[in-house]
Amino acid sequence: MIPYNKQSLDEDDIQAVVNVLRSDFLTQGPVVPAFEKALSAYVGAQHSVACINGSAALHLAMIALGIRQGDIVWTVANTFVATANCALNCGATIDFVDIDPETFNISIAALSNKLAIAEKNGTLPKVLIVVHFAGEPADLTAIKKLSEQYRFKVVEDACHALGASYGGEKVGSCKYSDITVFSFHPVKSITSGEGGALTTNNNDYAKVVRLYANNGITKESELFVNCPHGPWYYEQQTLGYNYRLSDIHAALGLSQLKKIDRFISQRKKLADRYRSLCESLPVRFQLLCPASQSAYHLLVVSLSDVVQRNELFSKFNSADIRVQVHYIPVFTQPVYSSQNLDKSQLKNSASYYSRCLSLPLFVGLSEGELDTVIKSLKEVLS
Ligand SMILES: *Cc1c(COP(=O)(O)O)cnc(C)c1O
Repeated sequence: MIPYNKQSLDEDDIQAVVNVLRSDFLTQGPVVPAFEKALSAYVGAQHSVACINGSAALHLAMIALGIRQGDIVWTVANTFVATANCALNCGATIDFVDIDPETFNISIAALSNKLAIAEKNGTLPKVLIVVHFAGEPADLTAIKKLSEQYRFKVVEDACHALGASYGGEKVGSCKYSDITVFSFHPVKSITSGEGGALTTNNNDYAKVVRLYANNGITKESELFVNCPHGPWYYEQQTLGYNYRLSDIHAALGLSQLKKIDRFISQRKKLADRYRSLCESLPVRFQLLCPASQSAYHLLVVSLSDVVQRNELFSKFNSADIRVQVHYIPVFTQPVYSSQNLDKSQLKNSASYYSRCLSLPLFVGLSEGELDTVIKSLKEVLS
């Protein structure tokens, strides 16, 4: 069986976890801060806060930006449901911007049009969540410019894009955004089992996120509202969550982070091989921007129509090659039917969905396995 994606673990990753298991702290020990420090240094952001998964990191990002009932959040439909759920979890309403048919990322033209209309109607978003789909950075320069013109905040959902860069900066530097969110699920660039993180250059956001990720509790005496009862005193200042990462998970994440550049270059090599072996086939690949560096999270091909895509999906399955469809447009999910969305503005998202297929791509996929995938592809397409 060839999976579509999976983790790559070495003996030193396993040893790093074992070391924590033999230490005094399984959680709230020294490894989480070490992981956070290494992540900040890697992406070039002032703060990073580790948490239990990418979904929690998105939720914390919404909380830090003050999202609540009555607010409007925009994102794309070509994403995992968690990108949109975080807004609903705060009581906000969500709306979707269409994607570009070539880059599969947010369409800047659609975004500009939608913003101009929303300004007239008084329905501008408070936050835009940008997804770097398949690891390819969205057009952050254009998005930042629009965010200044229309005064909305920008969150990067970079769950696909740890290790990617944009304009010479690592994704996560937050040069073009307020907060960036990562996931360390086993299919992502690096893994900690479950895990996520948020990076920002804003001190206040970092403080709020730490508070809410820790049941609303602070132990920093200079922040106390009440007079401390004694040296044991801690203070719950808001209703938060326990979204903390454990040291066991952080040890794996920290060990994996040391290998990220090797991981990305291996993924790039495989992705390049797919592209060159498919040159004569009627498939389209994601248009990559030469000024960016993708993290090559997914290898998506766009087929000529839904019939061909479905045929390929079955063909691969019977050949024991796991492929996937990324993503079912979020607005088609029953949970989102109450949002009164204008789907006529989301035609590219729907059309992309009917034709996309993600082929196996992961560190450790051999060239022989890749060639087997291409062989199955050719059997159906030629
Ligand atoms: C994986 C993923 C998430 C959620 O991350 P978890 O760690 O699984 O909670 C959110 N957004 C996108 C785009 C993702 O791919």
